[in-house]
Amino acid sequence: MNDTRPYPAILLFGCPGSGKGTQGAVLGAMPNLLHLAMGDIFRALDKTSDIGQEFLSYSTKGLLVPDELTVRVFRHHVEGLMSAGRYDPAYHTLLLDGIPRTVKQVELLQSVIEVKRVVYLMIEDRDALIARLTKRAAKSNRPDDAQRSVIENRILVYERETHPVLDAYPKKLIARVNADQPPLGVLRDVADALVGCVSAKI
Ligand code: ADP
Repeated sequence: MNDTRPYPAILLFGCPGSGKGTQGAVLGAMPNLLHLAMGDIFRALDKTSDIGQEFLSYSTKGLLVPDELTVRVFRHHVEGLMSAGRYDPAYHTLLLDGIPRTVKQVELLQSVIEVKRVVYLMIEDRDALIARLTKRAAKSNRPDDAQRSVIENRILVYERETHPVLDAYPKKLIARVNADQPPLGVLRDVADALVGCVSAKI
C-alpha cells in the first residue's frame, strides 16, 4: 500500500436488492465520496482470467467468493485507483457497497479501512425483495439474479454470513434506514445519516 493509514470509509450495508447500488451511485457523485461496489469490481474482471473464472464459479451459485481472494481483489483495485490519481484518501471517503460481507472480511480489512459509519438499509418485506431482485435480473445481465433458487440462496447466505457483520462494529456507528420506501426517501435518510462523517476538503 502507498499509504499506511487506513482509508476513511462508510459502509452501505444491507441484503441483496436493498438498494445499496442505487444509493451508492447517486451518493458517489458527491465531491468527497468514492463509491466502490465489490460486485462491480468482480464483474469488471476479465471473465477468461483465473480470478474471473473463480468469481463466476461462486456468483452463479449465489455463493460468496472466498474472503482472502475478495480482500486481495479489493485492495488491488483501490491501489490501482490511487496510482491512477482517481482516489486520494486525504480527500475522498470510500463509500463501500458489498464489502465487508463476512466477519472474516471485517478482520482482514481492519488495518485497511477506518469505518466512520455503517448505513444499514433495512428491508422487512421478503416477498417484495424477491420480486425486486427478479425484476433487476430482467433488466440487467445478472446471471446470479436469474433463478429464484439462486436469489433465495443469496438471501440465505446474507442472513447467515453477512448479517453478523453488523455486530462487529460499535452500535454508535450504525445508522438504520428504512429501505422499504421510494428511493428518494431512502436517499434523504441516508444523507441525514452521513452528514458530518465525510471529509469536507475540496
Ligand atoms: P448484490 O448487490 O445483489 O448482493 P453484488 O453485485 O454485490 O450483488 O455481488 C455479486 C456477487 O459477487 C455476489 O453474489 C458474490 O458472489 C460476489 N461478491 C460481491 N461482494 C463480495 C464480498 N464482499 N465477498 C464475497 N463475495 C462477494
